[in-house]
Amino acid sequence: MRILLVEDDQMLGDALRTSLKQEGFTTDWVRDAEEAELALATGDYSLLLLDLGLPGKGGLDLLAELRSTADPVPVIILTARDAVPDRIRGLDAGADDYLVKPFDPEELAARIRALHRRRAGRAVPLIEHGSLVLNPATRQVHRDGRRVHLSAREYVILAALMERPGTLLSRAALEERIYGWGEEIESNAVEVHIHNLRKKIGAETIRTVRGVGYMLADVP
Ligand code: CA
Repeated sequence: MRILLVEDDQMLGDALRTSLKQEGFTTDWVRDAEEAELALATGDYSLLLLDLGLPGKGGLDLLAELRSTADPVPVIILTARDAVPDRIRGLDAGADDYLVKPFDPEELAARIRALHRRRAGRAVPLIEHGSLVLNPATRQVHRDGRRVHLSAREYVILAALMERPGTLLSRAALEERIYGWGEEIESNAVEVHIHNLRKKIGAETIRTVRGVGYMLADVP
């Protein structure tokens, strides 16, 4: 999952990016609304983490503009403890959830997972496909009841495929999910991860559509 973090506080931004990475999320971090608009226009994000008190245009204005263009990206707003009216305005302006600073990074990660689950129309936390079971909270994968050990990037790719069975994901779409800004994209990395995934979860589980991308195979 690729996240756009809009936060002007250097220390908080740094800490958030680090903790989100530990939770398995790829995060791009911008410091103001203008940079955020540019990032949203060019990138494909699963979530926007939005500080409201930004220099220049505020987070609430950014959110209102985003929703006025019918951009459906899920939004969690980050607010100060005493800013109840801002939270109400944020939710009414189209935010999906909010967190009050200071917050526990683990709570943020859990809220991100819950929001993602609701958006995908799932009420249960586990994602199942045939004999494969993926738990987004623990980032563990089991096949036929046995734990399968995946690397961080193998996990991200498998989660992307399992979240949307029947959807074809291009190599570029998968690269977007596993690399943040400034990270060098190794050529063929996706192919290598898919190759290793197939060895671990069964060659027949992931289909290659030549020249287009990858998708989960139908459950027999
Ligand atoms: Ca701020």
